Amino acid sequence: MRLCRFGEGRIGIVEESGVRDVTAALEVLPSFRYPFPPYDALIDNLDRFLDRARTVSSNSPLLPMTDLRLLSPVANPSKIVGAPVNYQKHLDEVRTDAQLHHDNQSHTAVIQKIGLFLKASSALAGPADGIALRKLDRRNDHEVELAVVIGKRANNVSRSEALKYVAGYAIGLDVTIRGPEERSLRKSADTYAVLGPWLVTADEIPNPGDLNLKISVNGEQRQNSNTRYMILGVPELIEFASAFYTLLPGDVIMTGTPEGVSPIQPGDNIVATIEKIGSMEVTVRAA
Ligand code: MN
Repeated sequence: MRLCRFGEGRIGIVEESGVRDVTAALEVLPSFRYPFPPYDALIDNLDRFLDRARTVSSNSPLLPMTDLRLLSPVANPSKIVGAPVNYQKHLDEVRTDAQLHHDNQSHTAVIQKIGLFLKASSALAGPADGIALRKLDRRNDHEVELAVVIGKRANNVSRSEALKYVAGYAIGLDVTIRGPEERSLRKSADTYAVLGPWLVTADEIPNPGDLNLKISVNGEQRQNSNTRYMILGVPELIEFASAFYTLLPGDVIMTGTPEGVSPIQPGDNIVATIEKIGSMEVTVRAA
C-alpha cells in the first residue's frame, strides 16, 4: 500500500486515480501522555492502522492527487541516518572535484571506514514544503536517495534479518551545502531532508537493491542510476547502523546518492523518481 500525509496532518491511501482520506483510522493509535514516545507512533502501529484504514477507505471519497499538499509521509522520525559516498561512481566524482571534497579526508574515504552520519530531524520536509536554501554564497546540491523507513525497534540486527525491520520506502532528497564542515551540520538545515511523495509498504518492494532512481532539475536530467550500485545495500546499512544505536519505528535511513550531484538554486524545479515508488516534484526557494 501507499500511504501519504497531506494538508493539515491528514492521512491518505494512494490509489491509481487519487487519494482516500483515512485520517479517521488514527483512532487505533494508543493515546499518549507526557513524556510522549520518542518515535513515530503511526509507523509503530502501521499494521493496525492499515487494517482500520482499509475499512475507512471504502466510505471515503476519492480526492484528486493534484489538489493535495503532500507532507513528509513520516511525521516524527527520532533520527535521519545518512550514508555518505555509498555509490562508487559518486565517490569517484567527489575524489576528483575540489568543490566536493574540500581537501577533507573524511569526504573521500570509503563508507566502511567513515561510517554513517545523522541529519537533524528538524530538517525533515515534504514535497509541498519545498527546499529553502541557506548559504546562497556557497554551493547547494541535490542528492536523490532511496529512503528506508524503519518499522520496529532494531538493535544489533544482522543483515540476513534486516529487511524484516523495514516498514517501507520513500524517495529522499539529502540536500547538501558543500564545504569543509561536518556532514551533520551541512546537511541538517531546515527542509534539507525531503521525504515523499508517500510511503510504499515493504511488501511491495521485496528487493530494494534493484531500483532505478533519477532526478531532473528544470527538466534536465542530472542523476540516473540503480540501487544495485550501492556499496552497502539496505540490509548492510541496517546492520551497520543498529550495531551503534537502536533504530526506532519511523527512523529514516537515506541510503546514499549516485553520481551526478550538481548545484541547485532558488527558482529551480526538481523532479525525483524511484522505480516502484513514484515521482515527486519539489520547488527550491531562498530561505
Ligand atoms: Mn547523501
